[in-house]
Amino acid sequence: MKQLEVATPKRTKDIIAKYGFSFKKSLGQNFLIDQNILHKIVAAADLNGSKGALEIGPGIGALTQHLADTAAQVTAIEIDDRLIPILQDIFAESENVHIEHGDVLKLNLAQLIERQFADCTGVSVVANLPYYVTTPIVMKLLEEKLPLENIVIMIQKEVAERMAASPGSKAYGSLSVAVQFYCIPELVCTVPHTVFIPQPNVDSAVIKLRLREAPPVDIEDEAHFFRTVQASFAQRRKTMANNLTAWLGKEQREQSLAILEECQIDASRRGETLTIAEYAVLSRALIKAGLGV
Ligand code: SAM
Repeated sequence: MKQLEVATPKRTKDIIAKYGFSFKKSLGQNFLIDQNILHKIVAAADLNGSKGALEIGPGIGALTQHLADTAAQVTAIEIDDRLIPILQDIFAESENVHIEHGDVLKLNLAQLIERQFADCTGVSVVANLPYYVTTPIVMKLLEEKLPLENIVIMIQKEVAERMAASPGSKAYGSLSVAVQFYCIPELVCTVPHTVFIPQPNVDSAVIKLRLREAPPVDIEDEAHFFRTVQASFAQRRKTMANNLTAWLGKEQREQSLAILEECQIDASRRGETLTIAEYAVLSRALIKAGLGV
């Protein structure tokens, strides 16, 4: 028998009442009640009957249900112990849904993926993320180099715009560089705050991050590359010359200026105008000079 849709205002309210559930703002609990948005999220993930979906924060299962209808296997990680029996009840008949109780930031995701998706031809993360931990979650997914095809997530609109921003724009920052180093971002749609219970204070967006097979630029040392990026954005109003001096020390100023010139980066430019390729060239030149290593 086909399950009743979780993501309608009435059904969500019924489930909440049935189990006496109360929302915890501190866990970013805003449940989706819009079928259209759910269809858009699932469609963007390019799932099929042989793929796996890793969901972070299933809540009462609005998205989980759609993933279970589309993917071969679904594993949903939920931190709130009060939601575990509810999810187990709702998905009691769904053989391809596994509920994992835990904090996504603490779990060994590589092991979890290997265990849960051994028979799948590819795995994607699909989630309506808790907004208070969006960046740490996305950075964990990327830095741990998990075997993922796509990350399709609903997040705060401004954060999605920062992830997809181009050099020279106001939204471009170290998050844009980090995300675009590992992925090709694509904004899928914006989402008004009215499609959630309870309604958040901000609007949201769905973003698709397609994982690159290899970085788009040639770098020598990933950690140094990201140190260079962080240092260049440390003070947005400062020039590259000043941010590099603040990072490497006053005594290295002349050498930093020479390196910027050698890399054909005007020392008066700001970090927010440099492309990923320019950061890669700069990091390689600094390493060659033994700076910031
Ligand atoms: N997927 C559901 C939906 O779309 O209706 C709920 C999304 S709600 C925005 C975020 C969910 O993430 C909540 O269920 C919350 O309890 C859970 N959550 C918050 N922090 C978490 C963490 N560190 N690890 C796993 N789940 C978390």
